[in-house]
Amino acid sequence: MLKIIVLIKQVPDIERVRFDVETGRIDRSSAPAEINPFDLNALEAAVQIKEKVGGFITALSMGPMQALSSLRDAMARGADDAILLEDRRFAGADTLATSNTLAAAIRKIGPYDIILCGEKTVDGDTGQVGAEVAQLLEIPHVYYVSRIVNVSGNSITVVSETEDASYVLETGFPVLVSVTRDVNKPRLPTLKSKMKAMKSEVKIWHAEDLSGFLDLDKAGYAGSPTWVHKVVVQREKTRQVRIYRQVEDGIQELMRLLESKGLI
Ligand SMILES: Cc1cc2nc3c(=O)[nH]c(=O)nc-3n(C[C@H](O)[C@H](O)[C@H](O)COP(=O)(O)OP(=O)(O)OC[C@H]3O[C@@H](n4cnc5c(N)ncnc54)[C@H](O)[C@@H]3O)c2cc1C
Repeated sequence: MLKIIVLIKQVPDIERVRFDVETGRIDRSSAPAEINPFDLNALEAAVQIKEKVGGFITALSMGPMQALSSLRDAMARGADDAILLEDRRFAGADTLATSNTLAAAIRKIGPYDIILCGEKTVDGDTGQVGAEVAQLLEIPHVYYVSRIVNVSGNSITVVSETEDASYVLETGFPVLVSVTRDVNKPRLPTLKSKMKAMKSEVKIWHAEDLSGFLDLDKAGYAGSPTWVHKVVVQREKTRQVRIYRQVEDGIQELMRLLESKGLI
C-alpha cells in the first residue's frame, strides 16, 4: 500500500476576492476560501493512484484555523487523513519558511512513497514550494506533470511538460510530483462523503508538535529570508474618450491639445 501525502493550500476564491488598494493586501474576508485548484488535481491524482494500486492518503496544509474547512473538503474528496499545521509562529512565512515547515511535518509523518502537490497556487503563484520541499527532504521531484502514464508498487511513470518538449519520466519512490491542471478532472465529493468528512478528525499540529523536526528560526515571518517591501496594486485605467459631432471641432481640439503639450 503506497503512502501518499498531498499538499493542500487554502486560497481565496480568486474570481471574487478584492484587493485593499491602500494596504496592497488581499482582503481575505471579501471572498470565500477554497482548495487551491491545482491541489484538487494533485488530490485527484492521489485518489486515482490509490484506486489502482492501493494507498493511504494524508492531506497536509499549513495555514490558519480556517484551513480546516479545506482539509475536510479534501477528506470528502478521498483523503484518509488530514493534518493542519497551525501556529502563529508559522504565520507570515515566505516560500522557504513555508517549505521548511511542510518538510518538517512530512519528516514527522514518517515513511512515504509519493508527495503530490499543485504546480502553483492561484494567490501566491510562485511555484516554488514543491521544489523546495523536495530539496529539503533530499528526494527527487518531477515537475509540470500533465499525465500519469503508469504507477506500480515501486515506481511511477509520468509525462512532464516543459515549454519546448514533453518528457516521459519513470522514477522510483520516494518522489515529489507536482501536477498541472491537464493531469485529470477532479471529481466532486458526494453528499455521503461530505457527511463522513464532517465527522472525521483533522489533526492540528502546533510548533511544539514539530519539536525535533523543525528549527523554529526557519519558520514563519522571523525565519523568512525575504520580506515584502511594498505591494502595488495597479489601478484599472479607463479610456479617456471625447466625442465631437463636427469633424472640425475634433481637429481644433486635437491641435489645441498637441500645442499645449508642446508637440507642434
Ligand atoms: C516575501 C514573502 C512574504 C510573504 N508573507 C506572507 C504573509 O505575511 N502572510 C501570508 O499569508 N503569506 C505570505 N506570503 C505568501 C506565502 O509565502 C505563500 O503563500 C506560501 O509560501 C506558498 O507560496 P505560493 O502560494 O507561491 O505556493 P506555490 O509554490 O505556488 O505552491 C505550489 C504547491 O505547493 C503547495 N503549497 C503551497 N503552500 C502551501 C501551504 N501553505 N500548505 C500546504 N501546501 C502548500 C500546494 O500544493 C501548491 O499547489 C509571503 C510570500 C513572500 C514571497
